[in-house]
Amino acid sequence: MSAGVEGLDETHDPARRSWVPGASEHPEFPVQNLPFGVFSVRGRQPRAGVAIGEFIVDLRGVSAAGLLSGEAEAAVEAAGGGSLSEMLELGAAPRRALRRRLSELLSDNAFSDRIGPLLHPAAECTLHLPCAIGDYTDFYAGIHHATNVGRQFRPEGPLLPNYKHIPIAYHGRSSSIRPSGMPVRRPLGQMKPPDNAPPVFAPCRRLDYELELGIWIGVGNELGEPIPIGQAEGHIAGYSLLNDWSARDIQAWEYRPLGPFLAKNFLTTVSCWIVTPEALAPFRIPQAQRPEGDPAPLAYLSDAEDQARGALDLHLEVLLRTGRMRAQGRLPHRVALSNARHMYWTVAQMVAHHASGGCNLRPGDLFGSGTISGPDEGSGGSMLESTLGGARPIVLPGGEERRFLDDGDEVFLRAYARRPGFASIGFGECRGVIEAARAVR
Ligand code: CA
Repeated sequence: MSAGVEGLDETHDPARRSWVPGASEHPEFPVQNLPFGVFSVRGRQPRAGVAIGEFIVDLRGVSAAGLLSGEAEAAVEAAGGGSLSEMLELGAAPRRALRRRLSELLSDNAFSDRIGPLLHPAAECTLHLPCAIGDYTDFYAGIHHATNVGRQFRPEGPLLPNYKHIPIAYHGRSSSIRPSGMPVRRPLGQMKPPDNAPPVFAPCRRLDYELELGIWIGVGNELGEPIPIGQAEGHIAGYSLLNDWSARDIQAWEYRPLGPFLAKNFLTTVSCWIVTPEALAPFRIPQAQRPEGDPAPLAYLSDAEDQARGALDLHLEVLLRTGRMRAQGRLPHRVALSNARHMYWTVAQMVAHHASGGCNLRPGDLFGSGTISGPDEGSGGSMLESTLGGARPIVLPGGEERRFLDDGDEVFLRAYARRPGFASIGFGECRGVIEAARAVR
């Protein structure tokens, strides 16, 4: 293991191998990852699990077999009722204890007899949302996205004056967040044709995806008690992928003066596994230096430790497969490649800012990072960017073109962390397929 990386222990050892068939070669879920989630098998009650290779381990089963003790046992006992919120609320120490014990149980062959019967092939399981999400907030921390989108509306000044001072966000809608794989019905909405034509109510014609990180809150804070930036990290339970599906034509008409509403709240997709801060420890990097002339963050958003290791080197991808490509047996085609390092604000800054006015965060709350685009061609995290607002279509294998999403189109978000000297890990799937709109009534 590399020297100088904080938060490392034996669970990160790249030489550690699992006895679970195929797990050590698995591109996303080797024994160094161990993300938490909620799954069910053949219609039975949803329960807590951990991903290992192509299998899911039943955590209650591990506990019932007497293989856990202390904080690790307490963490699993808290994960009841098909939601991990109460487990995440326990904070970092029980989560780490459980990770260390699971890493041992899944790598030491002496435990294979007792754990083997508790493994379920992931292909036979249904994954659920990992938490009952109380509140959802969508940030806007991807500075290239904010600049690209701003340029389409305000060529002379793409970024508004507050952008480099405030982690901008809006309060989203938690009731319509769905796990990966749920279909996405094209929304109906009110939109305004150009010129003097009156508004119409019709199916969205400019349906888009947004490539975002999801951030899960573990430990909450009391109403009226801000979270100091230096303690913000302790409130983050883990990460997922998040697709903030967006109806651009509805958005363009409704967003002034109060921001996104129906253009965003028809459905949001998240990947089902919570990848822990522990699993991501080897992939922490310094927050990018702010360009010369940018303002320094105010004191309540400034922390040397956060600047030194508060960003993530995480490869992010968007892939698209049309209905015709699926029928032809074609693989999804990558339409964007980006990286979580392109965030202007760290996740700790988002947490500290959110609570700075006294707002209470609660276990199982979810943040979206904002669309994470890169600076280069081919790194746009939305179609609004990659097609320049629909002006320049994406050309797909087989010759089809897309300016925005058609019915039958399937969008996949993926995240991978790779670094020499460490096992590579991934986030699993964040997928949705577009269904036709309901008839207008
Ligand atoms: Ca968004």
